[in-house]
Amino acid sequence: MSDTWAGRGESPMAKSFDPKGVEEKWATFWSDHDLFHADVRSTKPPFVMVIPPPNITGRLHVGHGLNNALQDILARWKRMSGHDVLWIPGSDHASIATHVMIERQLESEGLTRQQLGREAFLERAWAWKQRFGSEIVHQLRQLGASCDWSRERFTMDSGLSHAVREVFVRLYEEGLIYRGRYLINWCPRCRTAVSDLEVVHKETEGRLYTIRYPLEGRGEIRVATTRPETILGDAAVAVHPDDPRYKAMVGRTVLLPVLGRAIPIVADAYVDPAFGTGAVKVTPAHDPKDFDAGKRLGLEPIVVMDEGARMTAAAGPYAGLDRFACRSALLERLEKDGLLVGSEAHRHAVGHCQRCDTVVEPMISLQWFVKMAPLAAPALAAVEQGRIELIPDQWRKTYNEWLGNIRDWCISRQLWWGHRIPAWYCDRCNVTLVARKDPEACAKCAGPLRQDPDILDTWFSSGLWAFSTMGWPEKTADLARYYPTHVLVTGYDIVFFWVARMVMLSLKFMGEVPFRKVFFNGLVRDEHGEKISKTKGNVIDLFDLLDRYGADAVRFTYAALTTPGSDVALAPGRLEGSRNFANKMWNVVRFSLPHLQARTSAVPPSQGLTTADRWILSRSSVVAGEVSRALESYRFDEAADAIYHFAWHEVCDWYIEIIKIRLSSGRDDLAEPARATLAHVLDRLLKMLHPFMPFLTEELWQALPRVAAKGPVNSLSVASFPVQEPQYEDPVATRAIGMLMEVVTLRRNLQAGLRGVTGPVQTLVAPFTPEAREALESLREELRVLTRSSDVRIVATLDGDVTAVRGVTADAEVALPLAKLDVEAERQRLRGEIERAAGELAGHDAKLSNDSFLTRAKPDAVDKVKRAHRELTDRIAKLKTTLAQLEG
Ligand SMILES: [Zn+2]
Ligand SMILES: [Zn+2]
Repeated sequence: MSDTWAGRGESPMAKSFDPKGVEEKWATFWSDHDLFHADVRSTKPPFVMVIPPPNITGRLHVGHGLNNALQDILARWKRMSGHDVLWIPGSDHASIATHVMIERQLESEGLTRQQLGREAFLERAWAWKQRFGSEIVHQLRQLGASCDWSRERFTMDSGLSHAVREVFVRLYEEGLIYRGRYLINWCPRCRTAVSDLEVVHKETEGRLYTIRYPLEGRGEIRVATTRPETILGDAAVAVHPDDPRYKAMVGRTVLLPVLGRAIPIVADAYVDPAFGTGAVKVTPAHDPKDFDAGKRLGLEPIVVMDEGARMTAAAGPYAGLDRFACRSALLERLEKDGLLVGSEAHRHAVGHCQRCDTVVEPMISLQWFVKMAPLAAPALAAVEQGRIELIPDQWRKTYNEWLGNIRDWCISRQLWWGHRIPAWYCDRCNVTLVARKDPEACAKCAGPLRQDPDILDTWFSSGLWAFSTMGWPEKTADLARYYPTHVLVTGYDIVFFWVARMVMLSLKFMGEVPFRKVFFNGLVRDEHGEKISKTKGNVIDLFDLLDRYGADAVRFTYAALTTPGSDVALAPGRLEGSRNFANKMWNVVRFSLPHLQARTSAVPPSQGLTTADRWILSRSSVVAGEVSRALESYRFDEAADAIYHFAWHEVCDWYIEIIKIRLSSGRDDLAEPARATLAHVLDRLLKMLHPFMPFLTEELWQALPRVAAKGPVNSLSVASFPVQEPQYEDPVATRAIGMLMEVVTLRRNLQAGLRGVTGPVQTLVAPFTPEAREALESLREELRVLTRSSDVRIVATLDGDVTAVRGVTADAEVALPLAKLDVEAERQRLRGEIERAAGELAGHDAKLSNDSFLTRAKPDAVDKVKRAHRELTDRIAKLKTTLAQLEG
């Protein structure tokens, strides 16, 4: 043969798999050889993904682990399947989250960010980014991520900042970005506006207070509120126009409690007559519905709280008090004045800041907004028309509902870390200038300009991620070749924050969808299915897992647990199972290595193949098809299961056991076809497993002798992914081995019941059909070896007189004939065993009929006895069957 051998097959493998040394080695090898670099000049079809950029605020967590493991499985599989893969890595500046971290740091130094100042604060933030941003790259590599590191981006790098600026200016020029005074959500701790999505509504046990408002002249009207402190900002009392109770009062004047301010009673259909007393206070500056009503009714908003949620001068005697202190003080005063009618418990949703958990205050404020309706319509159409597929499909409904009812997006934040709003104001001429280049002076009066101090919502820049990362607004080669991307793998918790906005902004600026598909991975939960949270104390540290189980085992577990539409419960048992699987793969290659090194040529398996060889070759073809189809439809679980079952149960448990005798026969004519088959199957198995367990498989593949690679670099990561090989598919061999497995399993069970019989026994097999007869006849030697029988006889029927234990599979009857002497000894043994088991069972019976045991013992202990009871009953039944056969 002219094929030359490559690989380092000569050095012996370590006894067991040590992930640490192996991971480091191959991560470095892949990056040194630049194997994950996408090439714009490549003639291969591209496959493109952008990473959901992790925040620079800290280490990756188990959710990132899942998300990136799944992306990497796709990237490696596509790369091995002949694609020019581009997986763009990067990180997000995470404005508010970074603020919270740095402000916490400042707090411990007794400082506020205002005391520190904007410049010094930004210096700290950049230092933070330098430190944690590079850590993220390191962590992704540790997980095995095969990103194109040469294209790493950061949402605040100069290119992406340029894109943000361009998008802002264009939207402003088109009237899709505007500035105005509207009611927004305000976090008094972060001291910034936040968008509707950044408010977490929590069901809270509050109180609904009923308060008497005196009318001018005589009489009163009662209103109900959960936030009494906002009374001070009331501009009117409103009733439903058709409410007979209040019809006569409309137009009269109310004197506001405590402040005595005169406000009108107005009629508006937004009032729900069934809520509270049917009369509501109208506070346009501090309630979203009242803000709209106030506009309709021409009411002037009265701001009673400042940016720290302290009462303003408009709150009269309460000026300077915190909002909640004001609430108590005001209630006390109302009580004293006889204006508090009463209160009742009231469950309602209270908005909290997503980042710092402070109660958010609705506030009227001058902010920047994006008009969403014109952007939402094309985004709805893209999914409706199938130009973007959401997987699983259930997310389509959520997506449609949100986009169908979307409100304008408040994008300005009163923070420092982020993209500064490119708007300048001339106080002299009262003009606003939004510009691509920083202006020097007012175009009108040449006077000084003041830049807007605010920054943009973080999600504004991540919304551009699919195209800004490829160099937009420049017309780059990357954009031409790689946009749109193929699939976005992301958590469903950011479907609005990120996915929908990316669709809207990409359609607007690229005129094309950002991705063809979105795969929503589940949330990672603990082994009991509970959400992971610091307060619950059930946090699972990703790097702890990587340390304990190795990256390959963790990745494989993620894949095996990823069923579309469900969350991932990370149980230690599953991780251990994956680690055992990694060790099993190590051991099978270690066992095979000397045999493969003994090969006399590198020809693929052909001559002298046995049924077992033909079966495993057939299976290695079928399974490759199953794995590809499963990955094609994002069934990571099915792909992992198919490989696991093939590798462990078929290759290791059966095939290797079957060929051991040929491998050690010392005869090349018998051994060589087995070696060739084993080499072929292991090569394909390692390739199939590579996307899931990249480090382990690269290590093992490199250890195997094989034909020198054609490419410049020998690496499994760029080898070809196995396809189906129809020439090897063999249903006859597959069916025959199926019969063999059943007969062997039955035969083993029969012998297991006969513990008195130790030595090799003859096996009699009576096939039911000519087909079964032929198959089993051809596998007689395999049957003998696998059942450790003295001899296997294929017979027409079993002689009824034969003293034997017997059983039936779908294709044959199987019997173990026993010598007379053995039979009597065995009967005795079985009777003894049944007696002992029955005695034990009686003990369990007694416990289970004892009420005081059942009520006092721990549930675990009771379960244990019940389980033992079931097992014993089972065992006794089996022993009795065997005994009956011997007595028959
Ligand atoms: Zn906050
Ligand atoms: Zn001017």
